[in-house]
Parts: sequence; structure tokens; C-alpha cells
Amino acid sequence: MKTIKTIGFYIASFTWGLPITLLGCFVALSLLITGHKPHRFHSLIYFEVGEDWGGFDLGCFFVVNKGASVAMMQHESGHGLQNIMFGIFMPFVVSIPSAVRYWYREYLVRSGKKQYSELPEYDSAWFEGSATALGAKYFS
Ligand SMILES: [Zn+2]
Repeated sequence: MKTIKTIGFYIASFTWGLPITLLGCFVALSLLITGHKPHRFHSLIYFEVGEDWGGFDLGCFFVVNKGASVAMMQHESGHGLQNIMFGIFMPFVVSIPSAVRYWYREYLVRSGKKQYSELPEYDSAWFEGSATALGAKYFS
């Protein structure tokens, strides 16, 4: 059953979820070429890069900082499931809003306008809360 689910996940990722998955292939290939080792988390392939910055998902691939928590990997995998749900709309409903929000929050903190503790909870945006919930449900 697990194998069938994984095959289904990959078929959906490379068809309906192709735009984001292709970007993920490009990033994965770049990381392989630069000597990063691929790892496996359930059905997904991930790479560890850098220290203490978080992570991002691109379809069946995700990238996290070194020593990322299981919760972070579940969250990124949750975005992988969102990708097969939202498919070609994923960039507009999740990926771009999520990236813009992440960098806006970083901007607020780095410019000294806010502290992390003053920002709304990370998961208060629906696409982040949904990724965390999906990750906890399907990848534990
Ligand atoms: Zn996220």
C-alpha cells in the first residue's frame, strides 16, 4: 500500500503538479552537481543546505537547513501534498504567497522593525497551517 501511495504521489507530482516539480528537479540537479547528498523522508527526496534558515518544498523534493527537525520535514512534505492537490495553481495559491510572506517577515526582523515574537504565528497563514496539518497527518 505504501509503495502504491508513493507511485501515485510521483505520478501526480509529475503531471498535475508538474510546474513546481520541474523547478524541484532543477534545484535537485543543481544540488547534486554541487556535491549535496540526497536523503529520503517518506516518499520525498530532500537535501540539507546551510544553517538555521528553515526550508522550502518543490513538489516531491524539499530543501531544509542541516539538522532540521522532523516537524520541519513534515511541514515541507505537507507542501508536497498541497502541490498534488492544487497542481498547476500551486505557484499562485501557495508557493509565491508563502515565499513572499517568508521574506517579508525576514525583512521586518532584519531591518529592526519587528522581532520574531511580535509577528503573527508562522502557521496563522492558511497555506502554512495546512502544510503543517497535512505533514503531521500523512508523514508521521
Ligand atoms: Zn511552509
